[in-house]
Amino acid sequence: MIPFLDLKAQYSQIKPEIDAAVARVVSSGHFVLGPEVTAFEERFADYCRTAHCRAVNSGTSALHLALLAAGVGPGDEVITVSMTFVATTAAILYSGARPVFVDVDPVTWTMDPDLIEAAITARTKAILPVHLHGLMADMDSIMAIARRHGLVVIEDAAQAHGAEYRGRRAGSIGDLGCFSFYPGKNLGAFGEGGAVVTDRPEFARRVSLLRDWGQEAKYDHVIPGYNYRMDEIQSAVLNVKLDYIERWTEARRSLAERYNALLSDLPFARPQPPRYARHVYHVYAVRLERRDDALTLLRDAGIGAGIHYPVPVHLQRAYAELGYRAGDLPVTEKLANDFLSLPIYPELPPERAAEVVGTLRSAAAQQPSAATRVEHPQSVMTWSHNRRAS
Ligand SMILES: *Cc1c(COP(=O)(O)O)cnc(C)c1O
Repeated sequence: MIPFLDLKAQYSQIKPEIDAAVARVVSSGHFVLGPEVTAFEERFADYCRTAHCRAVNSGTSALHLALLAAGVGPGDEVITVSMTFVATTAAILYSGARPVFVDVDPVTWTMDPDLIEAAITARTKAILPVHLHGLMADMDSIMAIARRHGLVVIEDAAQAHGAEYRGRRAGSIGDLGCFSFYPGKNLGAFGEGGAVVTDRPEFARRVSLLRDWGQEAKYDHVIPGYNYRMDEIQSAVLNVKLDYIERWTEARRSLAERYNALLSDLPFARPQPPRYARHVYHVYAVRLERRDDALTLLRDAGIGAGIHYPVPVHLQRAYAELGYRAGDLPVTEKLANDFLSLPIYPELPPERAAEVVGTLRSAAAQQPSAATRVEHPQSVMTWSHNRRAS
């Protein structure tokens, strides 16, 4: 048995500290937006190397408020990707704006900057890239396009705590960055949580107002707002865990290296972080033909595996009204068919990676011949460049 994720293992490592932090909140009688939240906001802003952080009650709320703070609303368009968790799209729709999907790059699996300009219209207000699986999108290219067209950039960094792009942290490059602290994320609360980081004081101020009913002072509502406040208990837990995040991230990265080495002779496409990146491996995914057979094989062997994500957002029934069809985003759709996520979490003993790969090896034996196996990223690249030229 190797679970996909083991949250109990993490708790048992830091139980005394967590229990003390939770007990401190319970006896303080202060449960929402108090000293634990303020302390966490300061420390998480430092961690992200941004001037400001505002904690909220989920990653979805963080995205929603970042969009509102940036002035995105009805009639606007936001360019984003479909290879993500639905929350990215949902938050854009909450703001009243329309999501416009561009395809992802076949090597990094994140927003393909070469496709952005063709998607810009007079209504475009913002670009919302997603740092999928913990690998940052090509932010320099995205920022250059945004600046040229006067667009706001909001990073969906829900899977990318501590990830870096040319030495800069996730959330610190765009105008605003959004994080989730859902329990299974790299930095997870004991319930829901999220945060917006930014260098711009006016954005931080707007998020502060919006998350707490638009109150400037108690019962003085200067704008309409929401109840998106963070709990003290969640911040207390996050304050403890923030001391461990770097150690945990390095454990994820060395597990990923081990997987890469063990898988090197198998016909699977592995993650290929560009030189610019510090990948934090929220998810370790490979690509293979007949993925569903491999998934069954792993599950039968008691190994937790997953797919992130099996149906791209533009093909979800919930978003049919957006008018997208199968074939609109070919790279995204191919990834959804090929992706397979292997267990990765800091407490997973490194030697167990060999067990996972051993099982995958028998899946590889059942793969179709080389002629039909998954294209090498290089050949997908050529295809995608041809498409652009045409
Ligand atoms: C988890 C996640 C979210 C949403 O965060 P919640 O805290 O679950 O609301 C948004 N975007 C991405 C890419 C995520 O992985």
